Amino acid sequence: MKSHAKVVVIGGGVVGCSVLFHLARHGWTDVVLLERDELTSGSTWHAAGGMHTINGDPNVAKLQKYTINLYKEIEELSGQATGVHLTGGVLLAATEARLDWLRGVVAKGRYLGIELEEISPSEAAELMPLLDPKQFVGAVRNKEDGHLDPSGVTHAYAKAARKLGAEVERFTKVEDIVRRADGMWRVITNKGEVVAEHVVNAGGLWAREVGRMVGLELPVLAMEHMYLITEDMPEVAAWNQKTGTEIIHAVDFDGELYLRQERGGMLMGTYEKANKPWSEFQTPWNFGHELLAPDIDRIAPSLEVGFRHFPAFQNTGIKQIINGPFTFAPDGNPLVGPVRGLPGFWVACGVMAGFSQGGGVGLALSNWMIEGDPGADIWAMDVARYGDWATMAYTNAKVRENYSRRFSIRFPNEELPAGRPLKTTPVYDLLSAKGAQWGVAYGLEVPLWYAPVGVKDEFSWRRSSDFTQVAREVATVRDGVGLSEISSFAKYKVTGEGAAAWLDRMLACKLPKPGRMTLAPMLKEDGKLIGDFTLANLGSEGWFLAGSGIAEQYHMRWFEKHLPGDGSVRIEALGAKLTGLSIAGPKARDMLAKATRADVSNAAVPFMAIGRMDIGMAPCLVGRVSYTGDLGYEMWVAPEYQRAAFQALMATGEEFGIGLFGSRALNALRLEKNYGSWAREYRPIYGPLEAGLDRFVAYSKDADFIGKAAALAERKQGGKLRLRAFILDADDADVIGDEPIWFDGAVRGWVTSGGYAHHSKKSVAVGYVPKEIADESDGFEIELLGKRHAARMQAAPLFDANFERMRA
Ligand SMILES: Cc1cc2nc3c(=O)[nH]c(=O)nc-3n(C[C@H](O)[C@H](O)[C@H](O)COP(=O)(O)OP(=O)(O)OC[C@H]3O[C@@H](n4cnc5c(N)ncnc54)[C@H](O)[C@@H]3O)c2cc1C
Repeated sequence: MKSHAKVVVIGGGVVGCSVLFHLARHGWTDVVLLERDELTSGSTWHAAGGMHTINGDPNVAKLQKYTINLYKEIEELSGQATGVHLTGGVLLAATEARLDWLRGVVAKGRYLGIELEEISPSEAAELMPLLDPKQFVGAVRNKEDGHLDPSGVTHAYAKAARKLGAEVERFTKVEDIVRRADGMWRVITNKGEVVAEHVVNAGGLWAREVGRMVGLELPVLAMEHMYLITEDMPEVAAWNQKTGTEIIHAVDFDGELYLRQERGGMLMGTYEKANKPWSEFQTPWNFGHELLAPDIDRIAPSLEVGFRHFPAFQNTGIKQIINGPFTFAPDGNPLVGPVRGLPGFWVACGVMAGFSQGGGVGLALSNWMIEGDPGADIWAMDVARYGDWATMAYTNAKVRENYSRRFSIRFPNEELPAGRPLKTTPVYDLLSAKGAQWGVAYGLEVPLWYAPVGVKDEFSWRRSSDFTQVAREVATVRDGVGLSEISSFAKYKVTGEGAAAWLDRMLACKLPKPGRMTLAPMLKEDGKLIGDFTLANLGSEGWFLAGSGIAEQYHMRWFEKHLPGDGSVRIEALGAKLTGLSIAGPKARDMLAKATRADVSNAAVPFMAIGRMDIGMAPCLVGRVSYTGDLGYEMWVAPEYQRAAFQALMATGEEFGIGLFGSRALNALRLEKNYGSWAREYRPIYGPLEAGLDRFVAYSKDADFIGKAAALAERKQGGKLRLRAFILDADDADVIGDEPIWFDGAVRGWVTSGGYAHHSKKSVAVGYVPKEIADESDGFEIELLGKRHAARMQAAPLFDANFERMRA
């Protein structure tokens, strides 16, 4: 075994081998994979080998498509058969709600280049002869589904990597990982030590244990999973003989089952409700090529549905039941990327669909390591979407929920209950008493809307039980004054003698003067957006940044990577150490004037001013800015004062008719101002010009901010896309995001978010279209629940286009 390597990959499952292959293909050949046993000695060997292109997140779907297309290449490169059977498949709906969901999937496929086609149940039965069409209301055909040989694929990655110069050491168990003073990693094995610049944890079933070697508690948990294989079935033989083809894949969402042909019989797997975690605290090191005891009682309810939906199963025997463990992150997506605080330590784990996603994970990780950027939008897989709050107990609750809902519909207004409430702010019970309906962001409970007694969310694709109440909350803001809790923003304090110069390099905006704020886009080297913040200059106190709450860990990883080594700049994520409240609406200033002794006149506190003042008795930092696009103020307050500040505002607001509003009303308000939001409109694949944030980029400032050259090039060349707002002729549903935008009879763009703008009484969709058509006002259509709706471009904000209210 070599003593030094550029990269050590720990784990020879499908994911580790894919990472190794991608690093070598990208030109890094001084790389070695360490596997404690034979390759495939984790969850990989007993997988059912199914592969699919569809995924809830379009960017992950793209990487799944990449993975499936890769198999031919690695087979050719390695000479190792992968056993790929591209049979195609049907996705089945037994309810109308499911069919609505499937139509959304078909629609997304149009701009992802995934060919999906809605078909009737009887057409589905012509393709998949074992199903009973009477049990279904509709189906979708996917030509890119199939299955493969898990061991063949893993060995093909490994062999291809070896041919390119990478090394694989089997029977080499990593027992410890130690960081040296010079930043290199000592990877200590039962056969000696390798010193490496980078270490990748692709430990699969043991990813937690490998993480613990460097003090990390990764949010992953293994679950038992069963599939059965039947005896040979005459129906299968007859079909094979008649058509000369295999029986295609089927996913029966309502039965929570997947099926495919396995030799002369069938394979049926379930995601049962009564699921069972495996090795909750510690994965035994002596586990290898074993299976777990089958427990047919646990999957019996699913099988009953399966046998009804696919009646031929009733007449066949079960040859074998496979029960094996594999790992999940709390939301079911992989954990990929560099780990904050551990330079050179990477993860590629929690991959629950290794044969659909393994290639994409390897590609993203190798790009990231070698080029400094994953080369795709992989937010949905980024390990930084979790923070310390994703504890082992939280992960356990969430993974079990996710497993049991693997094939369940999640409606756009549906909040999932497991692992909650976890983080709450001091006003949680006060807001609950007012009817707050809670959602969650980065582990923190956030009020979505306020329900009258006896009303709650009815889950639906269409406008629902919250519609009239959210309209009322919006009216409270636009006609008077509303109060919302804004603690879920990420808040950062930046101090030190080097802070100003550092911020000038990190952020693309011009730095504000003391007592002032500005909008601050942050770019990567390639000129794409990596953040959008409000930056405040607090004078001698330093700097204050507010940004997307869900991206706190993501941004801290970026900030810390770029901190100077001399200690001249300090940045702290304040998290729940600072809570927030906001008031907005035409009466906001009059109300604030009564809640504080400070002068809050327009002259004293103009738009984008910030300063300290007491609200009632509570000391606050108050900035004159509001995401509602109205006259408004954001108040930042230490948690021990939040209740006092809230009560003072509510008491003072009474005479102004103050009302509470939640994030759904805020969405309705920001939409009519054409304000974008992080992870929706603003993502690391769009440039500031494309995203309409170029007016906040100080292209000519002296500082050589990160991404400056690329941003200047984008401005010169015009980029490719434009973010636009559209008004939709909607029926009883509004867009939620990821719907296709049609122009002139072809799909040309995609929706990033939208909803009903209650004040303007318009259904709004925001999304990206190619710049060539970005100034057309008509001719657009947006596909929603299987129907194309006429859409008109809305260039100027629907509300307060001249900023009179906001700046008044
Ligand atoms: C019953 C079942 C059916 C499935 N069906 C499908 C399917 O149809 N389609 C699909 O895409 N996925 C399926 N999966 C999931 C799939 O198996 C996983 O997504 C995949 O195996 C994950 O691969 P991995 O490389 O991340 O982890 P693993 O396969 O667990 O590999 C990790 C490797 O790391 C090694 N290792 C760990 N720690 C160390 C150490 N300290 N030193 C050295 N080596 C170490 C282990 O020995 C192991 O070989 C199924 C899983 C099960 C259990």
